[in-house]
Amino acid sequence: MPVAINLHPLNDEDRELIEFARRIVDANTDGPDGVHTMGAAVRGIDGRMFGGLNIFHFTGGPCAELVALGHARAEGARELTTIVAVGNEGRGPVGPCGRDRQILLDYHPRIRVLLPTSDGMRSVRIVDLMPLAAVRTAEAAGQHGTPVVD
Ligand SMILES: [Zn+2]
Repeated sequence: MPVAINLHPLNDEDRELIEFARRIVDANTDGPDGVHTMGAAVRGIDGRMFGGLNIFHFTGGPCAELVALGHARAEGARELTTIVAVGNEGRGPVGPCGRDRQILLDYHPRIRVLLPTSDGMRSVRIVDLMPLAAVRTAEAAGQHGTPVVD
């Protein structure tokens, strides 16, 4: 049975966040064969934006989205509303990988993800991107605690 996903149109703040991420990757990428090929941006509940750039490495270097999450946290932004990633070389926004989706669900269960769909760019709640997912909240598990699966 197909799962319906609630897609929402973008607002001006969403478009501003995409542009913020695009500028980060355009200014700092090392090209199509480089190790920094994706930019990301998150918005805090107070409106501030924080950027990130991926660090590709065969051992599992972090995606741009995860770097942006760490950047926001380092600046004291604990509650985030929106996230987007943008590829270098004019590739535009790219949806988050499975690892990022699980991390977003666990750390920021109310965050919205901006991503391309067959109907164009849309905003989707992370819970809608992860139907039937295992839920493991950071609050419930603690930094080093045992995962809590509902
Ligand atoms: Zn990823």
